[in-house]
Amino acid sequence: MSTPTTPIVEHYVGGKTYSGEGTETLPIENPATAQVIGELRLGTLADLDKVVEVATEAAAVWGDYSIAKRTAVLFAFRKLLVENTDALAQIISAEHGKTFDDAKGEIARGLEVVDFACSAPTLLKGEFSDQASTGIDVHSIRQPLGVVAGITPFNFPVMVPLWMCPTAIVAGNAFVLKPSEKVPSAGNFLADLWTQAGLPDGVFSVLHGGRDIVTGILDHPGISAVSFVGSTAVAKIIQERGTLAGKRVQALGGAKNHAIVMPDADMDMVADNLAAAAFGAAGERCMSISVAIAVGDAADRLVTKVVEAGKKVSVNVGIAPGADMGPVITKESKERIERLITTGEKDGAKVALDGRGYTVPGYEEGYFVGPTVLENVPLASAAYAEEIFGPVIEIIRVETLQEAIDLVNANPYGNGTAIFTKNGAAARTFQRKINVGMVGVNVPVPVPVAYHSFGGWKDSLFGDLHMYGPDGIRFYTRGKVITTRWPDEKGVATRASFNFEAR
Ligand code: NAD
Repeated sequence: MSTPTTPIVEHYVGGKTYSGEGTETLPIENPATAQVIGELRLGTLADLDKVVEVATEAAAVWGDYSIAKRTAVLFAFRKLLVENTDALAQIISAEHGKTFDDAKGEIARGLEVVDFACSAPTLLKGEFSDQASTGIDVHSIRQPLGVVAGITPFNFPVMVPLWMCPTAIVAGNAFVLKPSEKVPSAGNFLADLWTQAGLPDGVFSVLHGGRDIVTGILDHPGISAVSFVGSTAVAKIIQERGTLAGKRVQALGGAKNHAIVMPDADMDMVADNLAAAAFGAAGERCMSISVAIAVGDAADRLVTKVVEAGKKVSVNVGIAPGADMGPVITKESKERIERLITTGEKDGAKVALDGRGYTVPGYEEGYFVGPTVLENVPLASAAYAEEIFGPVIEIIRVETLQEAIDLVNANPYGNGTAIFTKNGAAARTFQRKINVGMVGVNVPVPVPVAYHSFGGWKDSLFGDLHMYGPDGIRFYTRGKVITTRWPDEKGVATRASFNFEAR
């Protein structure tokens, strides 16, 4: 139960906090303590109308700002984000549970997209063809869409909004953020930084809510595009409903990322990397490694070393010095993860390291799950088929690289994958034949830098354009081609033709 002094997190509209009409609230929990640390006010469809009205007016003004002025706001925002990193990381750690250092890391990754968006003068440059036809020039420009929305998941309260809004905003749009109800405060903090940076009121808004607000966003005629990051089931709904309403949609979904380990790989290096990639952020990253496919005789050495690495992980409350990973997000999430480990065990897997029933002294009520290693999970088990989204790695044995590639390609998800090997030919075959959007060679979590776009294949992304980078610019702008003739004082020499003629 919350106390009467629990702070209320409200919406952010028109450059300030906005209470709106909603009376319903949800508790905000600290997953390390299971304590309620705030209340979230949920918006209504009337609040959504208000947000879109304010954003529409703001977009008309902001879209006419010079690129130089827009870029100046981005630089000011960047400076404020750096100065406020610790404060923002504390908010992330308290609501999400990840370690303070990892929270700072996610802000740094988001900052890279801000850096990228600061190149707007180059990114938004059009193209020009002189004398495309006799006396005729052609040029193409990219213009903003108007009001765009971002719907974000719990696992990156700052980084994922920053995958979207810097590019959307610098391109001249107004941006409406609908954060996850589980981690709502960081969105408001970002909104305040945008205002301090000199962004005109209404260009960045935050509207809190659940499924009804998401549906309202998808159906709203005043919103031109929707960027979504979350689970696959919801991503599919977003894509279908949003495109039906005539919107541009990019919807990034879940993952089950496999790493292939060749027998020639340096097993110490592999185990160290896999432990960080599987257990970091308690496995609640869409690019976490959840399955290691050991080829040939790699398996026994790999299991021993990953178990050793898993035992060394310091599981603690996120702000504890030296903590490697914190709790998972909710009680339901902890129960689900433990249930899936048990399912895997019942289906025939060996639990080589068991994180069930894990407690941290002083935080006995927290939603902790310890690092877990499952050996030989049957492919038919729900423990293999489902995205566990917890600190669990499954180690599977195959005989050849081809079998390993086939296994990855048979998986419905296609977000990230990696190979560990010293053999360049094996790595090249892997990178060419694997049906996955983001591929690492001896890099376990191959999240692209901000000037390359981020996105998976298959059930990990619905839509054509990936997020941030060059695809981000394309997504948040619309192309226009202008064909121009300026008759000189003699006028146009020939009579207009009724036919298509050679230019
Ligand atoms: P989620 O799908 O439950 O929620 C995401 C957003 O959708 C939230 O804002 C939530 O309020 C809203 N939402 C939830 N259910 C809805 C419904 N039925 N209808 C409409 N809106 C709904 O995801 P989550 O649990 O917050 O985040 C974890 C998931 O996100 C994992 O599957 C993870 O792999 C995925 N993820 C993917 C990427 C990627 O880049 N592909 C990145 C981060 C997270």
